[in-house]
Amino acid sequence: MTKLIQVIKGTHDILPQEIELWHFLEEKAVKIFNEYGYKEIRTPIFEATELFARGVGDTTDIVNKEMYTFEKSDRSLTLRPENTAGVVRSFIENGMSRLSSPVKLWYKGPMFRYERPQKGRQRQFHQLGVEMFGIKDPTADAEVILMAVNYLKSLGLNDLDVEINSLGCPKCRENFKQKLKEVLKPELNNLCEDCQNRYEKNPLRLLDCKVESCKAIFEKPEIQKVIQSDFICEECKEHFDKLKLYLDKMHVKYSVNKLLVRGLDYYNRTVFEIKSNNLGSQNAVCGGGRYDSLVKNLGGEDTPAVGWAMGMERLISLLPAKESKKLDGYVVSNYPAEAFELAEELRSLGYCVEFDLSNKKFTKQLEKASKVAKFALILGEDEIKSNKISVKNLATSEQKTVSKNELRSIL
Ligand code: ATP
Ligand code: MG
Repeated sequence: MTKLIQVIKGTHDILPQEIELWHFLEEKAVKIFNEYGYKEIRTPIFEATELFARGVGDTTDIVNKEMYTFEKSDRSLTLRPENTAGVVRSFIENGMSRLSSPVKLWYKGPMFRYERPQKGRQRQFHQLGVEMFGIKDPTADAEVILMAVNYLKSLGLNDLDVEINSLGCPKCRENFKQKLKEVLKPELNNLCEDCQNRYEKNPLRLLDCKVESCKAIFEKPEIQKVIQSDFICEECKEHFDKLKLYLDKMHVKYSVNKLLVRGLDYYNRTVFEIKSNNLGSQNAVCGGGRYDSLVKNLGGEDTPAVGWAMGMERLISLLPAKESKKLDGYVVSNYPAEAFELAEELRSLGYCVEFDLSNKKFTKQLEKASKVAKFALILGEDEIKSNKISVKNLATSEQKTVSKNELRSIL
């Protein structure tokens, strides 16, 4: 027996019975993002490895452990693990900084991370994301958060928690990092291996650790004192206060979570996540923040920016299944040429119509029609002779015989 080839671990087919939900997410995205003036951008699925090493940061899990990297013609290429770096590359390469600010972009598509597959965590997954370039004021941070909340509401997801935090600027953060390192030093040997590795390179990331024993350590009063302290400078504080004010004014409910640091290196000031209580341990549906230094770090002009990404599979798992759409009509006939003709005519008018391609028995065709269509369009000998169609409403079983012109007012 030939061995079956199976889908790769951590990847999934999106099957026809699920696709309507995906279309729903995508249609709502187009609608809401349009309302806020965002334009879609599509960048390649693979980029130079260097882009992610520099753009996402080489102290991150993504770059250190999770990238799908391969060589081709002596170049190191990587399947995108996220899309902010790719969008920023395109922004710079296409001279978008010359456009009037802000430049508002959105994207959707597959991302690839070599992670341990589990519920809510795949190796190929899909993100929907937005990036806004050119505005340093917290109005931009508030607008992207508001848009995320409104997008989620448009999907019918209302009971989600918005968490925000400010990481300060590189200057005030440095101070905080030092204090954090000092207070954590005596605990270093009790922390998990990841935390020990991050201690020197990126101590802030320790706060993000999901290991219970580490979390317990961070609960200690002397450590909490540092975590909860207001380390951010006046300017950063003003930025954060204004953001909170705008969110209050727009009736966005949020809480400040001082442990929220986000996994990527490029964030400064605002970071945020939107979480659901119905997702188990992988509970974040949306993550984002401000990344004012990234455009410059990747060789562009100094351009402030803010954005977010949502995991589409996690959104889907929060939504009720959708029934697949029914055809407008199913032609029931043992006269294939005439059935073809009628189906094509209706299709050209924009109706969704099918007919039986294998000339099955009349009753079988009617059975099929009642499963897949709103109306059975019956073309028997009598109908063909009189150039009419018998239309059966499959919900009510009402049936009448009409001309082609009359048919249009029924479908
Ligand atoms: P997590 O803490 O869940 O690992 P993250 O901080 O790595 O998330 P981001 O890089 O901010 O995630 O990506 C934004 C969103 O993309 C997440 O909130 C989540 O909904 C989704 N996401 C991230 N990684 C995966 C994955 N491996 N499988 C499915 N969805 C994912
Ligand atoms: Mg992750």
